Amino acid sequence: MYAELNAPLSSVVGERTAKEFAGLRITTVGDLLRHIPRRYLSGTELTDLSTLVEGELVAVVARVAEIRRHDGHAGPGRKPRPGRLEVLLSDGHGRLTATFFGKAHLLDWWSRQLGEGVAGLFVGKVGSFRNQLQMSHPVFAMMDARGHIVSTSEEKERIAALSSGGLVGMYPATGKLPTWKVAECARLALAALSGAEDPWPAWLRQAAGVIDLADAFAAVHQPRTLAEAARGAERLRFDEALATQLTMAYRRADAAHHDARPRIRLASGLLDAFDARLPFALTAGQAEVSDAILADLGRTRPMQRLLQGEVGSGKTVVALRAMLAVVDAGGQAALLAPTEVLASQHFQTIRTLLGDLGGGRMLGTPDVATDVVLLTGSLPAAARKSALLRAASGEAGIVIGTHALLADRVQFADLGLVVVDEQHRFGVEQRAVLADKASARPHVLVLTATPIPRSVAMTIFGDLDVSTLSELPGGRAEVATVVVDASTRPQWVDRAWERVREEVATGRQVFVVAPRITSSAEGTGVVELADDLRSGALAGLRVGVLHGQLPADGKDEVMAAFVAGDLDVLVATTVIEVGVDIPNASMMVVWDADSFGISQLHQLRGRIGRGEHPGVCLLVTRAPADQPARARLDAVASTRDGFELAELDLEQRREGDVLGASQAGNRSSLRLLRVLEHAELIAQARELAAECVARDPDLATPGFADAIRATELLASPDWLERN
Ligand code: ADP
Ligand code: MG
Repeated sequence: MYAELNAPLSSVVGERTAKEFAGLRITTVGDLLRHIPRRYLSGTELTDLSTLVEGELVAVVARVAEIRRHDGHAGPGRKPRPGRLEVLLSDGHGRLTATFFGKAHLLDWWSRQLGEGVAGLFVGKVGSFRNQLQMSHPVFAMMDARGHIVSTSEEKERIAALSSGGLVGMYPATGKLPTWKVAECARLALAALSGAEDPWPAWLRQAAGVIDLADAFAAVHQPRTLAEAARGAERLRFDEALATQLTMAYRRADAAHHDARPRIRLASGLLDAFDARLPFALTAGQAEVSDAILADLGRTRPMQRLLQGEVGSGKTVVALRAMLAVVDAGGQAALLAPTEVLASQHFQTIRTLLGDLGGGRMLGTPDVATDVVLLTGSLPAAARKSALLRAASGEAGIVIGTHALLADRVQFADLGLVVVDEQHRFGVEQRAVLADKASARPHVLVLTATPIPRSVAMTIFGDLDVSTLSELPGGRAEVATVVVDASTRPQWVDRAWERVREEVATGRQVFVVAPRITSSAEGTGVVELADDLRSGALAGLRVGVLHGQLPADGKDEVMAAFVAGDLDVLVATTVIEVGVDIPNASMMVVWDADSFGISQLHQLRGRIGRGEHPGVCLLVTRAPADQPARARLDAVASTRDGFELAELDLEQRREGDVLGASQAGNRSSLRLLRVLEHAELIAQARELAAECVARDPDLATPGFADAIRATELLASPDWLERN
């Protein structure tokens, strides 16, 4: 059916109409058929004339009380101007004027059709003219004394369906494309499909329990009952779910076809030495996930695993153990972080955790030791050259960096594992680039602290196996979150800074986060905020500033000072968002908190309460109490359950944004599918997609190949990126 659905719309509706549809980004027959009615009007939904609301689309049964005709005047030698017909409608409860504009012969025709005293069905949008409600050019059909529709034209048959128990679909209309025109075009498109084969094989349709595609299109566009329309929509939704899952399933199968070098854990190697020194025992969750990863690494197909767990759940240790196992097996591991700050932090954490096991092989170091190098874009030339050399020679078992690692010049002797921290900052393509660096595919482990609802994980990361760390090592300290209303309670803000001083007085440290670097009309930036605090509310405290525009060594210096406890307060943008681990930081003030999304606030808050000290998080906002932005803050204040907040976040964002619709927002790869609402459907599609691959490993079914091509065209890799 691919050819039929991908035929240009103009081939069915003509160039002119096709141009109008192009404005809705509907360019093919398939696009049009998937543009389905927003709602259906039935005979039981007739509107009472006394309850009309402007802007509403209504169907009313009313009697023509009076017809007033105003003929257009023609000056001498001029074309006649159109006249109009004002038709006063009454249903016994209220009145409404229907207006028709046209030349004399049209006015004649309408007058004949309508007839004073005759009842009819009128469908159209309620507008207003000189403060009077009116409908211009309603579609209408007149009825005989027994209430039967008396007309024959196509349009009126559709209307007739209203009174005979059928349904009329109402499309999201635009100026040039009233719902009737869309319906007519859909009818043409349906006709153009006749005889086309269903893209899914019969076994699949049967297993999914869905109707044929052609029937589904007919059912959504021309249903007789709401149940029928629902069955049709179900099939279309299933197709969307399956297309995504097929794409993932074949990708996964493709990865499985590529060889990976098995990295089998070596006894008495680096990993064992590391475990022996680890100052704590792995949690049950860490042990389980670690085992799964080590088993994956020993296989000949590349691991594709997503490890999700809240901030502080201990992902880094798990990832490090995987890296060490690969080093033991003679390979190298690369760790990619989204920012330089995080890359340096990872570097420091890992060097600290490894001690002399990570300082390179030198005289007097354990002979299992390896070299850990940091490779970022801002490294001085000499250091960079040395790091590049050590990566290329294989001397460096662990290479940590940012996107700079993806640059062409970075070579590895034997890259066995790529760990990607915070997947959503990395595009799918970037992952692929890195994978191409190795002769055999490296194993890939993706870490994310962004709690991803299962349904989303399956949809977006369906080509990855998912592991979750759900417990926190040693539990976590309480964090009390309070919304501070700066507009109605300015004194609370003063109190907030006092609270900061108290916290510092007990030896703790404090983050102050603001959404921007420099002040603007929208609010104060971190630079000015820090200055104000230093000379005002926090005078006498050691206040540092951190933001993305500082040079890399400047950033590292500030961060290092905060880690070392040489700063009491760090005023920062969201550069501190992920991964930063400072157990002594127990308080956070988020300035203009309403500028942040739910998940982002949750991430930020994860910076505190990491040690044994209970935390406090103040969300300062000037957003009025009845704004959605304020509701977001209240939600964050009400729970620390990341999954709950992630789902809320998802609900609040437009569906299109979830799966990376284009900026214009119309062309989401998921039109009907709601990731949360249809989690079960997605799960079913995932299972069936796996069966598709099993039955057709070579992707010989044209319908499958078509669906994958279409999905890949629409998919946007950075679906979660919002800043
Ligand atoms: P994540 O990367 O998931 O945010 P980390 O791996 O950075 O979490 O761990 C957070 C903190 O908990 C670190 O200080 C780490 O050393 C510590 N940690 C990790 N695993 C354990 C454990 N099993 N027991 C005690 N502390 C742990
Ligand atoms: Mg971490």
